[in-house]
Amino acid sequence: MTSLFHDIIFGPVRSRRLGLSLGVNLLPVDSKLCSFDCIYCECGWNADHPGARRFNPREEVRAQLEAVLRRMVAEGTPPDVITFAGNGEPTLHPHFEAVIDDTLALRDALCPAARVSVLSNATQLHRPDVRRALGRVDNNILKLDSAFDATVRRLNLPQNPAYTVRATVEAMKGFEGRMILQTMFLRGTCDGAPVDNTTDEEVAAWLALVDEIRPGSVMVYSLDRDTPCPTLGKVPREELEAIAARVRRLGIPCSVA
Ligand code: SF4
Repeated sequence: MTSLFHDIIFGPVRSRRLGLSLGVNLLPVDSKLCSFDCIYCECGWNADHPGARRFNPREEVRAQLEAVLRRMVAEGTPPDVITFAGNGEPTLHPHFEAVIDDTLALRDALCPAARVSVLSNATQLHRPDVRRALGRVDNNILKLDSAFDATVRRLNLPQNPAYTVRATVEAMKGFEGRMILQTMFLRGTCDGAPVDNTTDEEVAAWLALVDEIRPGSVMVYSLDRDTPCPTLGKVPREELEAIAARVRRLGIPCSVA
């Protein structure tokens, strides 16, 4: 079963890697809204959620976040990280930059040690406001699952037919290393067609782009929860570690989630 986040603010959840993480969902609370439709998306398919396409208003996000942060600080458990994720692509929010500025101001005032993270699929980097906002957060985590347009079309189903890996890579280079590249590795079939971004050809071409983008660090991971396409396989940890070792040989830190 895939599942949605039903609140604007969710968690906090404690993880070994991030510490105490509070989530912010800018997308509709009752449907998924994304510029990709990844075959592994934990929220399910876009089409499964035809509900109200309403972004959570900036003021409501700020007010709810402030209330939760105040409570957490008062209880002596401020978050270690505030993470923008949720039911789709956060940078689609029309006031994304203002929301980020509100969040940074709240963080500075209430829990200055907390880091602000955004998990994005990098499809909105053509918007200057999105680039500015992502340039201000502590962890600008951008997805790139393959060096090949054809594979991205199979794996991520970009909703914009004009999507290209090349344009995405060029936009990523604009951050001059102030970004974290995140890549999901998997293999299997979807709708009877094979999909695999772990072949020698795939990994070599992806590594060449990693070297070109020169992100501050890279995170590789594989399937963890249920996916809308049930015939996908998890890549074993040893294989992810071998890919990570190749990234590190480029002089770029790489973690395996
Ligand atoms: S980019 Fe993220 S939210 Fe969008 S479809 Fe892919 S996994 Fe789901």
